[in-house]
Amino acid sequence: MVTIRWSFVKLLTSTLLLCFFVTTFLLFSWLAKKHVSGEANEVYDQIGQSFTNNPKEWKHKLAVLVPFRDRFEELMEFVPHIHSFLNNASIEHHIYIINQADKLRFNRAALINVGYKLSVLDCDYLVMHDVDLLPLNPLLDYGYPEGYVFHVAAPNLHPLYHYKTFVGGILILTHQDYSRLNGLSNRYWGWGREDDEFYVRMKEADIIVKRPDIEKVKTGNKTFRHVHDRVKRPRDNKRYGDQKKSGGHRDRITGLQSVDYTLTERYDITIHKAPATVYNIELACDRSDTPWCENPY
Ligand code: UDP
Ligand code: MN
Repeated sequence: MVTIRWSFVKLLTSTLLLCFFVTTFLLFSWLAKKHVSGEANEVYDQIGQSFTNNPKEWKHKLAVLVPFRDRFEELMEFVPHIHSFLNNASIEHHIYIINQADKLRFNRAALINVGYKLSVLDCDYLVMHDVDLLPLNPLLDYGYPEGYVFHVAAPNLHPLYHYKTFVGGILILTHQDYSRLNGLSNRYWGWGREDDEFYVRMKEADIIVKRPDIEKVKTGNKTFRHVHDRVKRPRDNKRYGDQKKSGGHRDRITGLQSVDYTLTERYDITIHKAPATVYNIELACDRSDTPWCENPY
């Protein structure tokens, strides 16, 4: 009888000890897990990026940079269109309308440089996107371009520009590559050629430019809608003084680092429920370098 009772006490003690160890183990692993996700949240707060369910994996975010002046009808159509296009492709994004609010000639390149600066803390890749070019084929890829630059508006798909080295219209690159290239030249006031100079920048830096696979994207010149009436929206393609000469040269001086501007206003808008932010930008012009930033007449 005594032996049986003694064995029972031993069994009870071992069971209690086992329970104690298991509970302690579970408690410690729960605390450790909590600590890791706490660290993850800290990173989230500091650089404003977000995690997927797996805290080790970054989720990419695209900055849609729209160089803009006085194209409100096109904007009304562009913002809802690109927002639902990107949502359908599960691309996290924000739309930046970089509105040139000074009296100088339009400078698409400088506005995109400003767009980089406005978006770099919130996004890790960007698309420079003309407001009047609407992607129609859902197979066009706006994903993160890992190790290359992606030219969406390829010469064999763009409704107007077909030369081999064309990189205008819609071009996607990481903020890291954009900064490595020192962005776009600020010397191009008026219409054109800043994208051709950027092509040379990329070539010199050995950057690979990829384009949509035409085996998959089979919509040809119906891949985009170019909302551009040439009478209503005439291109400012005049060349003053040395502008023509300057435009044909690779610019090794100006770019992302030297863009000079003032942000005068920032406001959020929604167009048919699609959100975007408008930034009013006054560009500064170094008249000794580019006197053609103003129309002389
Ligand atoms: N743009 C603008 N206002 C202007 C000129 C140009 O907003 O007065 C912007 C707009 O995003 C446009 C892009 O710059 O889509 C390229 O200009 P444009 O359409 O005139 O050039 P294209 O590619 O048609 O030759
Ligand atoms: Mn156009």
